[in-house]
Amino acid sequence: MIRRILLHPDPRLRLLCQPVLAVDDAVRGLVSDLFDSMYDASGRGLAAPQIGVVQRVFVMDTAWKQGAPDPAVFINPEILSASAEQQVNEEGCLSIPDMPMRVARPAEITVMWLDETGVQRRGAFDGFAAACICHECDHLDGRLILDHEAAA
Ligand code: ZN
Repeated sequence: MIRRILLHPDPRLRLLCQPVLAVDDAVRGLVSDLFDSMYDASGRGLAAPQIGVVQRVFVMDTAWKQGAPDPAVFINPEILSASAEQQVNEEGCLSIPDMPMRVARPAEITVMWLDETGVQRRGAFDGFAAACICHECDHLDGRLILDHEAAA
């Protein structure tokens, strides 16, 4: 189901999201709504607080705009390590429409998370995917791109 995406400065975008205790059908319903809402809004990532759910869940698909979809679900994500090397990407945010901003992020990260079946996963990411994961993890802590200094 397509849900309304909250817009900055909605205070619900600033809440600290709670960990998911059990990956059940309610969480899978949330994941399904996140994908519906993200694709409808033509985005590449969407976090639960952006549809008013204060839980540590986000979805991402960095590929679908260029070709085949590559949907990924992150529940209780944790960034385990981040490279000292930074990269700068122009990031958009569905909660701050039409105001892309250049943000510096770690060039490489390793992440641990649960997938939609509750299985623990671990992976390394770089490039746009790394930036997207950092952006969505920020949302789970109530942080927005506006909180970063604009990068040159
Ligand atoms: Zn965002």
